[in-house]
Amino acid sequence: MVNVPEIFGSMVFNDATMKERLPKATYKALKKTIDLGEPLDISVANVVANAMKDWAVEKGCTHYTHWFQPMTGVTAEKHDSFIDPAGDGTAIMEFGGKELVKGEPDASSFPSGGIRATFEARGYTAWDPTSPAFIRDTTLYIPTAFCSYTGEALDKKTPLLRSMEVLSNAACRTLKLFGKDVKKVTSTVGPEQEYFLVDKEYFDQRKDLIFTGRTLFGAAAPKGQELDDHYFGALKTRVKDFMADLDVELWKLGITSKTRHNEVAPAQHEVAPIFGTTNIATDHNQLVMETLKKTAEKHGMVCLLHEKPFAGVNGSGKHNNWSMCTNEGENLISPGKNPINNTQFLFILAAIMKGVDEYADLLRISVASAGNDHRLGANEAPPAIVSMFLGDELEAVVKSIVEDKDYATPGKVPMHLGVDVLPEFKKDTTDRNRTSPFAFTGNRFEFRMLGSAVNIACPNIMINTIMAEELNQFCDEIEKADNKDKAIKELIKKTFTEHQRIIFNGDGYSDEWPVEAEKRGLPNYRSLPEALAHFDDQKNIDLFVKNNVHDEVEIKARKVITLEEYAKTINIEALTMLEMAKQDILPAVSSYVKELTDTALAKKALSDAIPTSVEEDLVTTLSNDLVSFVEKIDTLSEDVVKGNDIEDAQEKANYYHDVVFAAMNELRAVSDEMETITSSDYWPYPTYDELLFGV
Ligand code: ADP
Ligand code: MG
Repeated sequence: MVNVPEIFGSMVFNDATMKERLPKATYKALKKTIDLGEPLDISVANVVANAMKDWAVEKGCTHYTHWFQPMTGVTAEKHDSFIDPAGDGTAIMEFGGKELVKGEPDASSFPSGGIRATFEARGYTAWDPTSPAFIRDTTLYIPTAFCSYTGEALDKKTPLLRSMEVLSNAACRTLKLFGKDVKKVTSTVGPEQEYFLVDKEYFDQRKDLIFTGRTLFGAAAPKGQELDDHYFGALKTRVKDFMADLDVELWKLGITSKTRHNEVAPAQHEVAPIFGTTNIATDHNQLVMETLKKTAEKHGMVCLLHEKPFAGVNGSGKHNNWSMCTNEGENLISPGKNPINNTQFLFILAAIMKGVDEYADLLRISVASAGNDHRLGANEAPPAIVSMFLGDELEAVVKSIVEDKDYATPGKVPMHLGVDVLPEFKKDTTDRNRTSPFAFTGNRFEFRMLGSAVNIACPNIMINTIMAEELNQFCDEIEKADNKDKAIKELIKKTFTEHQRIIFNGDGYSDEWPVEAEKRGLPNYRSLPEALAHFDDQKNIDLFVKNNVHDEVEIKARKVITLEEYAKTINIEALTMLEMAKQDILPAVSSYVKELTDTALAKKALSDAIPTSVEEDLVTTLSNDLVSFVEKIDTLSEDVVKGNDIEDAQEKANYYHDVVFAAMNELRAVSDEMETITSSDYWPYPTYDELLFGV
């Protein structure tokens, strides 16, 4: 039996532990830093470091590490032991404020997009006291930000913290207009995480899964997700055991894992925590992804976080539920019972509408990755157009304001199920729209374009900065008005009117929507290279520079890093495909052809009267396929060689998308065709049947 309250947060140096172990004055000073962002004194850091070390050593730790999130998207750590020689041949365990506050990892091997030459290896990690330290195995993990010697951010956390700060200032300023004096506003996030589980034995036999995280070849299984029998279906024992174990590991780390269920595709599942401060939610989501992988291994499975591990069934995403909350606990995205009269809410809603409309490109860019290209704007995916869903009630509110019409609050309607024994409850005022990329869901917005593997810092940096910008613009205008109430109402109406085009309540997966969106002038960037080309558009540079979230150097660097990562990813996929095609698939099919030929010849030797047409037809078809297969192999090989010579990052990414990726798809099509007519005794890899239904 798991005693949840006892294990929850047991591996975290959390508020309760700090309260218990720190002198009162130290605790108070640290809390001021954590809650209100005040600078931290080194004398305070010394006391905290010592208490942290004692706590960690009691729990069996020998090492500590600064834990950071470089531009690779995964986390980085370098362990140091607490050991300090005492001078008499013995050692003591030491950890001071200096070590807690600052680290100096050699930064030359992390992507910097040209910010730093590799000979200038100096990089710093700085303690982020707003995210609690935790223990994994025998190491104390200290969440940190990572920057260059010259102060440029080399990670995803620094700009996230900057964006949270500007948003807080802008939101506090906004609330002043409504007579409220709050000290801090935090953006909160609850990310829902999707993933696949496959049997480790099958995984180990597939080079594509090992090197790229997705299947590069593979004919569809006879059964996919068409029966809708997996979504919320009963959990298989093995998966249930895994999930139970996962929850325990997450709870120990203070992660509020709450919801778990099967997802739409076979072998696909989801885990969701209770929402929290964006910064901590981001750290936690990184830990969730790492823990998913580790726990799966323990259960003889592999967790795939790739956005599209299998063709023909759903890919995996992440839903970023975002809101803003004051230090007094008021959720600023909550419309209350009577949204039409909730001017503060409408003001904030107007800012969101304007922001999503004006910076739709940045939201799209924030979720761009080679993997997510399969989920946005691709063959089996919805379009990559950013739009907002408000639901019936809010949409009616917006409409009545735009058109100057009266609006009657519908209120909640009781739900009658027609059976007396079932309890009666109130219906929500609006249904859901599962296809909308940026949907209002009652007291938050759900940004649904994220790929399953993305670091959620990226989209949240964008959302926070955009919101800060729009709220500040609004404040500039209202603060100078004589009649503020009137000015606020006019601003809301004007904004709703001008940005209506971003609202779309229809079916985002329909064929009509891209046509309609184009008429409305909404961007539709189908691939990463196409989207990233706009990262450093002047309006976007202005946004980041003005709000001190990125300087121009950082934006250009991030653009280059993302484009390069894209080209490298496709390059690895192409090389993996070529190896599989040449070394495994071609010989396998060829051997099968030989067997068929031998059979036909043997039959003929026995008697001319025995029909050999089946073997002959198959031999002919497969031989023709092999000719085509080898042609495609040659084309792809040449394309990859040419791609390696391109210097410019944008040009290279475009090329890998337009030429290499296209050639890969052609090669795959021939292989998948051959797979369906080749004996499974000969096929060199576990099939989709086994991968999707083998757990
Ligand atoms: P669904 O699948 O129905 O959208 P889930 O329960 O799977 O819902 O996930 C909803 C997520 O939204 C949870 O992580 C939840 O904690 C989070 N959430 C709820 N309220 C807020 C809020 N105010 N701010 C941010 N996230 C929120
Ligand atoms: Mg969900």
